[in-house]
Amino acid sequence: MSFFPWQAAQWERVLKQVRENKVPHAFLLNGVEGIGKLQFAESLAAYLLCESTSEGKLEQACGTCKQCRLVESETHPDYKHIGPEEGSSILKVDAIRNMVEFFAQSSMQGGRKLAVLSPAESLNHNAANALLKTLEEPSGDSVIILVSHSSGQLLPTIRSRCQVIDFSLPETSAAKQWLEAALNKDELSLSGAELDSVLALAAQAPLRALEYVKTGALEENQRMLEEMAS
Ligand SMILES: [Zn+2]
Repeated sequence: MSFFPWQAAQWERVLKQVRENKVPHAFLLNGVEGIGKLQFAESLAAYLLCESTSEGKLEQACGTCKQCRLVESETHPDYKHIGPEEGSSILKVDAIRNMVEFFAQSSMQGGRKLAVLSPAESLNHNAANALLKTLEEPSGDSVIILVSHSSGQLLPTIRSRCQVIDFSLPETSAAKQWLEAALNKDELSLSGAELDSVLALAAQAPLRALEYVKTGALEENQRMLEEMAS
């Protein structure tokens, strides 16, 4: 698990905090959808749980220690993913209550306790207030990583309790390069012009563009354009 090439500056900033022992209790990763913020959050969570990264000695989680293996197999007892239930776009207060309970228990592995919450704008009113309380009184070695595609929708009091890390769209050439490599990995390939049009359709967000290719949205769009033109 790694961050994307266009997130190197954000990663460097986080590493610096680990090295200076200044990891905040809450991060807010902010930026448009489809540029890899969730994967950054997961890489960061893995890094903060890894046994071999103390003092920021490694650039990334080692991938081999006991903690990394628990993360890899999605069975780490001190790591939680929080999001709306399947089929819903609303994150209810019960999910936050569960998270509060999770943070209240002492660490099973003796290290930090991590929660990744995505997308943060799915919190309903009660859930947002419950989260705010947790952010105001963080417990021990707990870290919450919020991921938001539209942080303007969040309560300003939530935003101000988090360390905000902004993510922007990658340069077109970087997006194109990444998309081409990702498609090749799945034994798919597009021409340069096709890569340009799928990126344009995805408003230059590379992960969304990949999704479009895989779900056939590109062809669908071309068919629509042709129909409109005829
Ligand atoms: Zn490790």
